[in-house]
Amino acid sequence: MKPSADDTLLRAFERALARGRLYMAYQPKIALGDGSLSRVEALVRWDDPDLGQVEPSRFIPLAEDNGWIDELTIWGLTNILEQWRTWRDEGVDTSVAFNISAISLQHLDFPDLVERLCQSLGVPADRLVLELTEGATQPLIKLMDTLTRFRIKGIGLAIDDFGTGYSSLLQLRRLPFTEVKIDRAFVADVERSKDSELIVRTIIDLAHGLGLSATAEGVENTAQLDLLRAMGCDVAQGYLIAAPLAPDRLAPWIEEFGARWPTLTGGKPSAAADVEANALGQG
Ligand code: C2E
Ligand code: MG
Ligand code: MG
Repeated sequence: MKPSADDTLLRAFERALARGRLYMAYQPKIALGDGSLSRVEALVRWDDPDLGQVEPSRFIPLAEDNGWIDELTIWGLTNILEQWRTWRDEGVDTSVAFNISAISLQHLDFPDLVERLCQSLGVPADRLVLELTEGATQPLIKLMDTLTRFRIKGIGLAIDDFGTGYSSLLQLRRLPFTEVKIDRAFVADVERSKDSELIVRTIIDLAHGLGLSATAEGVENTAQLDLLRAMGCDVAQGYLIAAPLAPDRLAPWIEEFGARWPTLTGGKPSAAADVEANALGQG
């Protein structure tokens, strides 16, 4: 029987994992108050010699369904914590967010393992953030014990892609999250759609009301950035700020972006800039 496309992809993925062909790219997230680097999000990358660039959204579900996800999680975590150590040695001050599959969180001893890894590499566990997405088959509520153990160790927990998929308000209330990441589907037209604007504003207020920070993903233009700042969103991430970067690009990026930030914000608080733009528009 001819192997299916998924079989071929799975075999190629197994080879890539075994041969160390996967790597991490890091996308900066900035604090909207002052444009400083808040942290970087690690995103796995796979450039295959035969298949070209394979998107995580294709191979992660495959790894989850075929028993490879824990190996990918441990590889990814070790890789980013080692990179974090290197940055600290080089004087690059950042903290790191890691996307973790809910399947890997089923192991109750996983928080201890993460803490031990942080200790052995001398990186601060209380500045690590795990980003979780709720899936149909892995309701996060079932992971309450593991998630609580992470929080006891000071490790942050973000609910990713909030507002789409399976994430629910109940999870937000019951689980010990520290951050809400607003799905980029809402951010994409926040400056054009009154509905998206209302949804984004509501998620930000909800996050703040529950004592969580709000991050907007997929920020691609200054109109979105300005609006998000005016709405009190804490952190932003997206191509306007930076694409996912190779590790050695982070230090130069921090320098370049520091210089670019005043231009992005017009050098003044966004509310004032909006008022001025409106006045000009009317005049
Ligand atoms: P995510 O965690 O929501 O990551 C954000 C995705 O949006 C990334 O796609 C990123 O490259 C992309 N992105 C960032 N800024 C922009 C923008 O301004 N516009 C647009 N259109 N896209 C933007 P990517 O790298 O393809 O990752 C897709 C998903 O795969 C991630 O979504 C995450 O859920 C998962 N993922 C990535 N790396 C890992 C990993 O190491 N482990 C696990 N378990 N999942 C991962
Ligand atoms: Mg994420
Ligand atoms: Mg996301």
